[in-house]
Amino acid sequence: MKKISIIVSCYNEEESLPLFHKEVSKVMKELSSYEYELIFVNDGSSDKTLEVIKELKVNDPMIRYISFSRNFGKEAAMLAGLDFSTGDYVTLMDADLQDPPKLLPEMLNYIENGYDCVGTRRVTRKGEPPIRSFFARCFYKIINKISKVEMVDGARDYRLMTRKMVNAIISCREYNRYSKGLWSFVGFKTKWIEFENVERVAGETKWSFWKLFKYAIEGIVAFSTLPLTMASLLGILFCFIAFLMIIVIIAKTIMWGDPVSGWPSLACIIIFVSGVQLFFMGIFGEYLSKTYLETKKRPIYIVKETSDDKVNEEKKLL
Ligand code: UDP
Ligand code: MG
Repeated sequence: MKKISIIVSCYNEEESLPLFHKEVSKVMKELSSYEYELIFVNDGSSDKTLEVIKELKVNDPMIRYISFSRNFGKEAAMLAGLDFSTGDYVTLMDADLQDPPKLLPEMLNYIENGYDCVGTRRVTRKGEPPIRSFFARCFYKIINKISKVEMVDGARDYRLMTRKMVNAIISCREYNRYSKGLWSFVGFKTKWIEFENVERVAGETKWSFWKLFKYAIEGIVAFSTLPLTMASLLGILFCFIAFLMIIVIIAKTIMWGDPVSGWPSLACIIIFVSGVQLFFMGIFGEYLSKTYLETKKRPIYIVKETSDDKVNEEKKLL
């Protein structure tokens, strides 16, 4: 019998967890030809999420959980779940039912028929603020132009993978994780299935506009070095313009003499060029800071307790 690991990252999801658990259990009951485990990763929630998970576990032996020592972010939570999983097939889901569990049978079907991975993408962005959709679209256009790794617009983290692909993902131990890029980076044959956007069942989204913006920058820095190349290209262009201007000025001086003028244009040029320089210094800084964090080799997440703790303690006693 094949085993499916369902990984759910939770950050302040006390309201949605019971609803989520009910829905998933219903779907898994229909898939009775598979074993499964439900792994909740409590990402340092400040509400009763962990208590709710423990309560659910009392009546459901399929549940396992990991609890972090603080909030490490969804990327870290997903990695912890993947590290912890034991299934032949592994799926990642959100706790808010925005990733419909009822798609699982269809996804399994594709996996059984030779795909290594089945990804989901939402075709509409219904219920999302229009300005956010606009920036999201722009982001995908830009990143696909400047990065070798393909990123699919509307792709969710909700996907079903084989153990081979999971092992490949786990082997990428970078500190600045950008999963949307990592999925394509590791390759494997992926089938995309589409669905209409679903709004979350309870609670609130944890993504502010600023957080999403920073995440976008992370994606660009992690999967493209074009911003660095741009600095060199712009530098060459400016040198070229400066060279032309020198020739023009020399010619003008020789032909018409040199009345002292052009102070405003000079000021504008200095301000413009120093602005460009500062901008690119900022970009270098962005890459440097990521490199700095990467070289420290700090753990990506820190586990405070897991559902296996007791089992291990008992084993030690024997
Ligand atoms: N999440 C997490 N850690 C965080 C933020 C979010 O584990 O720091 C989880 C959250 O509990 C949910 C999933 O990531 O299961 C997606 O979060 P959310 O629904 O807020 O994002 P959205 O669907 O709005 O993109
Ligand atoms: Mg959500």
